[in-house]
Amino acid sequence: MAIDLAKCVGCQACSVACSMENTRVPGENWHKVIFMNEGETGTKKFTWYPRPCQHCTEAPCTKVCPVRATRKRKEDGVVLINWYKCLGCRYCVMACPYGVRCYPEVKPLLEPDIKEVYHGRRAKLWDPPYQLSREEQDGKRGTGIPPKGVVTKCTFCAHRTDRKEMTPDRDPVKDRDFTPACVIACPASARYFGDIDNPESEVSKRVERKGAYRLREELGTKPQVFYVK
Ligand code: SF4
Ligand code: SF4
Repeated sequence: MAIDLAKCVGCQACSVACSMENTRVPGENWHKVIFMNEGETGTKKFTWYPRPCQHCTEAPCTKVCPVRATRKRKEDGVVLINWYKCLGCRYCVMACPYGVRCYPEVKPLLEPDIKEVYHGRRAKLWDPPYQLSREEQDGKRGTGIPPKGVVTKCTFCAHRTDRKEMTPDRDPVKDRDFTPACVIACPASARYFGDIDNPESEVSKRVERKGAYRLREELGTKPQVFYVK
């Protein structure tokens, strides 16, 4: 994924779309947009940093998991959590240098309140109006509504992108059904999703043309999210 910081207007549409698409509970934000204030007083430079999981090539979270619940998929490098295996020990939360993992322990506390405002369907306590289809609620990929006591995070919308084999790019209009929700929702078209290893992809062309950096490169995690300058 590439994010053009010069285009980002900080509207948070990506964060809202992410939470809606992935049925997150309040306080469990897979995608924050962080406001950075750089430089000396009077010469300050303001930048918005949208921050999904960086899907690191050398992902520290995968190395600390005692049961290999969190893993990097060989075919596309996406880092996923298997909720059936996750113990909820939260070692991975501590190991992630980008603070993108969530442990939604508030969920059991929220359920009674949510029931008061939204009674749910089929007599379930937590049953929000929009949900992924039954097939796309996949605990092995960490998509959909998680069981209690597991860690969650951005999957690059695996339930959407897995619907079609990877192409150089995912056009948010033409490939709407196969593109991450945050990319579709961005009104400034600041986000690009594609194959960075394919020189024909828009992601790699932009990174090549405009230059880009990755967050905390000094750690050697080699994130797969590129911030275009
Ligand atoms: S950003 Fe954090 S959770 Fe995502 S792959 Fe890297 S270490 Fe793991
Ligand atoms: S790729 Fe999907 S899960 Fe990840 S931040 Fe974007 S909308 Fe959220």
